[in-house]
Amino acid sequence: MRTLIFIALLGMFVMLSACNDETEQANEHEEEPVEEQEEEEKENGQEEEVREEESEEEDEQEEVEEEQEPQYEITDSSSLSPIDDANPSVVLLTIDDAPDGQALEMAETLKALDAPAIFFVNGIFMESEEDQEIVRQIHEMGFAIGNHTYSHQNLQNISEEEQREEIISLSEMIEEVTGEKPQFFRAPHGANTDFARDLVEDEGMLLMNWTYGYDYFEPYMEADKLAEAMITGEAPEIDEPNSLLRDGANLLMHDREWTNEALEEIVEGLRDQGYDMLDPKLILTPSDE
Ligand SMILES: [Zn+2]
Repeated sequence: MRTLIFIALLGMFVMLSACNDETEQANEHEEEPVEEQEEEEKENGQEEEVREEESEEEDEQEEVEEEQEPQYEITDSSSLSPIDDANPSVVLLTIDDAPDGQALEMAETLKALDAPAIFFVNGIFMESEEDQEIVRQIHEMGFAIGNHTYSHQNLQNISEEEQREEIISLSEMIEEVTGEKPQFFRAPHGANTDFARDLVEDEGMLLMNWTYGYDYFEPYMEADKLAEAMITGEAPEIDEPNSLLRDGANLLMHDREWTNEALEEIVEGLRDQGYDMLDPKLILTPSDE
């Protein structure tokens, strides 16, 4: 009997150690909810060495969470507004329809400029292992991966069941690839439905459209012209002679060659005018509540 108990205990110990190894590996790339970590800590209570490593991880976790205290909230017009005394002169960079050829290079450009952004991805662009690897890398570089629906259909033209499928299947795919659920949602063409709004909120995502973006209009499908339009906020060739650039502007760009080419100039030009690139981690989302 004693031998049996000993073997059972030994077995449990080996299992716990193995679980812990997995957790450690996973934590290199993702953040675990604090509750889960605490549970693990309790399970591993007897083991001194393990406990030290766990609490180191927990310290790091706490630091990260402090940094990520929400400082901005979205307005009805999809701009970003400071909650307390955060700097109001910020703009949010978003890259839609990714990854479709330029996303990784765009992420590298932004990373080198220390400019955070949200990449809104589509499932149809991340079916291959290669494309999933790109999304994983962009996430690991610190960018937010947002849900832009699985196949980029207009949600207003499909059934509720299809809308659910378009949104949920992509959220699951993103979580599988990055280890993290998406926090942001943008409907294709900005075409929302009441059903999708509710679903997105239930899923803990913040729904957003944008305040301006020009790279999908023919006259601005050229790097120099696009850069000028994005930096000034003006696009006279599509009847937008007044600048839309202002505090909290939510800037729409896409995974396109000309946008990739213009990206550095756009970020530098916006900074020259006194705008900081807003870190999406500072935006209040339904999952914070
Ligand atoms: Zn799109």
